[in-house]
Amino acid sequence: MPDLAARLADVDARIAAAMRASGRAADEVTRIVVTKFHPPALITELHALGVRDVGENRQQELTAKHDELADLEGMRWHFIGQAQTNKARAVRAAADVVHSVDRARIADALHVAAPEGAPLDVLVQVNLTDDPGRGGVAPSGVEALAAHVAEHCTSLRMRGVMAVAPVGEEPAAAFARLAQASVALRSVASDATWISAGMTGDFVEAISAGATHLRIGSAITGPRPDRG
Ligand SMILES: *Cc1c(COP(=O)(O)O)cnc(C)c1O
Repeated sequence: MPDLAARLADVDARIAAAMRASGRAADEVTRIVVTKFHPPALITELHALGVRDVGENRQQELTAKHDELADLEGMRWHFIGQAQTNKARAVRAAADVVHSVDRARIADALHVAAPEGAPLDVLVQVNLTDDPGRGGVAPSGVEALAAHVAEHCTSLRMRGVMAVAPVGEEPAAAFARLAQASVALRSVASDATWISAGMTGDFVEAISAGATHLRIGSAITGPRPDRG
């Protein structure tokens, strides 16, 4: 716990410094702690340290932790992993925000899971690599996907764009393309201003490029246990 508190404080200080350096107000960014592969007890410790936004990338793990920790007040659960359509109902039941909407079929499945339910915040995941097999819609497809969501998925609230910087490229260059995708998205959904970008290795560059939501794991949690 002392180590966890120290790492959290250190990351938050680095975030604050990067925000200042970019001339941005501290409250323009949300720090999500990615807790994947760690036990629920870690999330309880983080909650005691004031963390309210946590991220998980597998539906089963999200569901299990969300249900076990239902008593943690004010917790917001961010789903940041590849979503399968047959798991959409479970994702919708556990997540407050889904960062990984990258095709019409998953948007439809999330909507159909609770068409009259409380709105679900979603982001369009953008693929910044040249490999179409990676998660995310190509930058050229962002507007069409957002238009589909606006027209057909009325229980989803479009919030912004999300991406992972490709390995082997300067993160700043990749995040500049994500900023362009954000402009494209806002031509269709004018208030979808969130930019989810920045992990342990590149959150300073993401802040410079305008990130509003950072997804930081190991710098705060320590190394992840084996996924088994
Ligand atoms: C695991 C993960 C992160 C956090 O990665 P770290 O390098 O540990 O900070 C962020 N985003 C996504 C999509 C992830 O899967």
